[in-house]
Amino acid sequence: PAIFALRSSHFSTAAEPSSKQGSPPSVPNLIGGSFVKSQSSASIDVINPATQEVVSQLPLTTNEEFKAAVSAAKQAFQSWRHTPVTARQRVMFKLQELIRRDIDKLALNITTEQGKTLKDAHGDVFRGLEVVEHACGTATLQIGEYVSNVSNGIDTYSIREPLGVCAGICPFNFPAMIPLWMFPLAVTCGNTFVLKPSEKDPGASVILAELAMEAGLPDGVLNIVHGTNDIVNAICDDEDIKAVSFVGSNTAGMHIYSRASAKGKRVQSNMGAKNHAIVMPDASADATLNALVAAGFGAAGQRCMALSTVVFVGGSKPWYYGEQTCGSCQALKVSAGTEPDADLGPVISKQAKERICKLIQSGVESGARLLLDGRNIAVPGYEHGNFIGPTILSNVTADMECHKEEIFGPVLLCSEADSLEEAISFVNRNKYGNGASIFTTSGVAARKFQTEIEAGQVGINVPIPVPLPFFSFTGNKASFAGDLNFYGKAGVNFFTQIKTVTQQWKNLPGSGVVNLAMPTS
Ligand code: NAD
Repeated sequence: PAIFALRSSHFSTAAEPSSKQGSPPSVPNLIGGSFVKSQSSASIDVINPATQEVVSQLPLTTNEEFKAAVSAAKQAFQSWRHTPVTARQRVMFKLQELIRRDIDKLALNITTEQGKTLKDAHGDVFRGLEVVEHACGTATLQIGEYVSNVSNGIDTYSIREPLGVCAGICPFNFPAMIPLWMFPLAVTCGNTFVLKPSEKDPGASVILAELAMEAGLPDGVLNIVHGTNDIVNAICDDEDIKAVSFVGSNTAGMHIYSRASAKGKRVQSNMGAKNHAIVMPDASADATLNALVAAGFGAAGQRCMALSTVVFVGGSKPWYYGEQTCGSCQALKVSAGTEPDADLGPVISKQAKERICKLIQSGVESGARLLLDGRNIAVPGYEHGNFIGPTILSNVTADMECHKEEIFGPVLLCSEADSLEEAISFVNRNKYGNGASIFTTSGVAARKFQTEIEAGQVGINVPIPVPLPFFSFTGNKASFAGDLNFYGKAGVNFFTQIKTVTQQWKNLPGSGVVNLAMPTS
């Protein structure tokens, strides 16, 4: 079919309401270097969660278009894999410069489609930008190993080679950071890429792809296809795709992990979370209080590393923290993320709001105390937005539904324990293992926590311990499936396979004897 090329500027990413622009623009795919409008007759609306205005229309990409994207990536791989790694890095050097240039545009798009505040949206872009900076050092990260003279005149060395076409499937909560966890490292390692952004906020991925093309990424190295379950299943099943990076919920993540690995692909799957803080009696009260409020309610609790449960250990004055936290929360301004003084914006959809409210109610019904209830908040000027104000439940026990499940909203659960042992065991009973933090001035308590806690990312007086890109994002238990984490050395290993070469360069006099025994040195 004739798919017509769009200049990228045809896709409006402005925050203007669609009514002022006529019909909302269709979000283009990127196939073989061209931004193209999908021929699909099926689409879904991308909705501003603060206003319910339709920002754009996201096509459910056809199978034919998907195949064209994979084929473009496969073809581009032939030359891109032979492009010197220094040249590939140079594209990343340029890309990081362009992201900095356009950070305001990216942030505005994120706030419009996802809802977080503009300041938080800048942080979303910045944390992804750091991965682009890290990808500028891919050559060093790929250095292999060499052992000389493993046998007489024989040397062995290892080389890290790209896999081929890789794919990435993204969640809604970090529309810039998570695509940037994926494609920059993949392509700088010499792979080509097919990206499937979240259907809820695809705009940032499209802007980033425009910037990558402007930075000099050759046609076909990065492709974008939009859609939902069908396109994800097509990615899992496609024989030409060698690896899948996924970030999102457990339902989708485990499905993708098993479906794609059954087809022989590598999969890294970062999933849901329930991050805990343990507050010891000796913790510095003011700093801890600020950390709990910021990490519990920032981004309306829609961060996979949001601190959603606090366990106060005997003598740490939970009533004091409860009162103070409620006080701090009442001072927080809940409004559209574009409002300059907004502290937290809406949650992503009406369905998400309903699910969060249901989990709050289930907590109340199973005996938790509602210290602060944000369910009926009214936000002047944004009456149709999916807002929930900060909500605090205390007396939460480990077996309550609201504690077992991820809430992913501005809800802080509070619990109490008599000792550090009891608090650690409370945290470890939860199936997730993304992050956990302790607030204390005792090195002994901190070390015990670090050793015994079953979370992959540990904070000591740090509420959101997300490692910078020279480490890796290391969730565990139900928060991760796979064995090579995102970014850092593990990320480079994920996007490359090892070839081990054994070479012999010497004059071999013919002895006339053929030895069939296993060679030994
Ligand atoms: P989601 O699982 O609903 O969607 C993620 C992606 O999977 C989307 O692109 C979507 O189209 C696709 N998808 C959803 N259901 C599918 C299905 N049944 N079959 C095939 N594909 C499907 O997740 P979300 O709501 O966008 O994101 C929120 C979740 O992501 C939370 O659970 C959060 O903890 C998690 N998350 C985890 C991390 C991490 O690093 N561990 C980071 C960010 C978000």
